[in-house]
Amino acid sequence: MKIGIIICDRYRNCAGGKCFRSAQKREGAFDIYDKDIPLEIVGYTTCGGCPGGNVEYSPEEMVKNGAEAIHFATGFIVGYPPCPYIMYFKKLL
Ligand code: SF4
Repeated sequence: MKIGIIICDRYRNCAGGKCFRSAQKREGAFDIYDKDIPLEIVGYTTCGGCPGGNVEYSPEEMVKNGAEAIHFATGFIVGYPPCPYIMYFKKLL
């Protein structure tokens, strides 16, 4: 299974430590994936900053690399304020 991850640009310096660890351990949002099936992160980028223009283009690149699912990182909803565009992004994808 190949996936892509998009993070909120407010955390653009994040090296992805928690995302990558959680994916390896199948924790949090990644617990939907069977531990017996290899999980590969084929794309990792930011939304590009408000209002998130990179969400329009980056998933396509991830799909070209084989991504079958795109995850939005926790920072979209736990940051303050939560991303006001998250539902729009979900629909767009
Ligand atoms: S609040 Fe939303 S649109 Fe703004 S930088 Fe974060 S993820 Fe991107």
